[in-house]
Amino acid sequence: MDNLVVMSVVIAVLVLLAVGLTVGAVVTRRGRRAAPPLPPIPPAPPVPPAPPEAEAPAAEAPAAEAPAAPAVEAPAVEAPPAPPVRERPEPTAGRMVRLRARLSRSQNVFGRGLLSLLSRDHLDEEVWEEIEESLIGADVGVEATREIVDRLRQRVAVLGTRTATELRALLADELVEVLDPNLDRTLRATRPDGTPAVLLVVGVNGAGKTTTCGKVARVLVADGHSVLLGAADTFRAAAAEQLTTWAGRVGAEVVRGAEGADPASVAFDAVRRGIETSVDTVVIDTAGRLQNKVGLMDELGKIKRVVSRHGPVDETLLVLDATTGQNGLEQARVFTEVVDVTGVVLTKLDGTAKGGIVIAVQRRLGIPVKLVGLGEGPDDLAPFNPVQFVDALLGAEPLGVDA
Ligand code: GDP
Repeated sequence: MDNLVVMSVVIAVLVLLAVGLTVGAVVTRRGRRAAPPLPPIPPAPPVPPAPPEAEAPAAEAPAAEAPAAPAVEAPAVEAPPAPPVRERPEPTAGRMVRLRARLSRSQNVFGRGLLSLLSRDHLDEEVWEEIEESLIGADVGVEATREIVDRLRQRVAVLGTRTATELRALLADELVEVLDPNLDRTLRATRPDGTPAVLLVVGVNGAGKTTTCGKVARVLVADGHSVLLGAADTFRAAAAEQLTTWAGRVGAEVVRGAEGADPASVAFDAVRRGIETSVDTVVIDTAGRLQNKVGLMDELGKIKRVVSRHGPVDETLLVLDATTGQNGLEQARVFTEVVDVTGVVLTKLDGTAKGGIVIAVQRRLGIPVKLVGLGEGPDDLAPFNPVQFVDALLGAEPLGVDA
């Protein structure tokens, strides 16, 4: 009986196994059949030609990304402003010699032109007339030209034989003579009692007034003085900015007012500050609006009056643009009638062939040229020395011979 039971169990197990295998096989086959074959890849539809404007968004895409870059970088490049580098201005002695080549345009007229005329074999009336014309053309002025030519004629006649060296020396002598080498050209930039000297700088806009204030500050610093700058040209915001930059380069202080502030009050404050800080010189830049003589007189007169409450103005420099020639002389005269000009600064001599304007300015105004501007560089302002100037005008060129 037991065997029968065992046999039945075994058979039952075998039957169950057989049924299980069969069902598994069917399920497996059904599963494979159920996965449908992959559909073939359809051919790509033809791409329609892009309309021209369709490219625009594509082109804009990178542009749209562009602002992202600086936005990320901006904080990284924001460095604190560098402190101004304190400069050591060039010594003033020898500047005229260093800058002599800047007179090259005038050298063509004086050195090459005049000297070659003078060395002609026969100095007849016609040649003397040509010499006269050259001098007038170089802005020497009619009166000074007559004087120079008359004296040259006499001396050449007396000398008889003329070597190139003699002729150069004769012409140089006459030019130096009309420039009056005995005039006092020193800048009154210090006071014996040690209080600050006051130096007013006047002139029409564009003449180089503000630049000259900056350059004069460097001249004074180079000569061992301490300087304070007053930005009393309050009508031009840029003037105060310009002056601040110049001052920063030589470690000088600037006193400036709000735009449109009363120039006289700024000048007054500048002198007061100069006294407080015991500087040697206060240099005051003024506005150069030549609206009319009365307006100018009011403005400059008031500055002078107000500043004088601290003490006298020691030097008033008139800045003149050499390239404006005889027209500039007319404007200059107006200034001399309004304020007591004590010295002339002739700027932009490097930009003219008419270096003779130095002679005309001095003679017409009766005021010595004290400084000359020979370029835009910070130290391109030289104390005027007639002998060195004439030497530079005549150049180192050998005398020309008959053309
Ligand atoms: P302001 O209006 O009289 O104060 O004139 P600025 O000082 O602003 O100068 C006017 C221009 O003249 C600037 O570009 C200066 O650099 C230029 N300048 C001043 N002096 C000289 C000079 O001696 N030579 C040359 N070539 N340019 C000069």
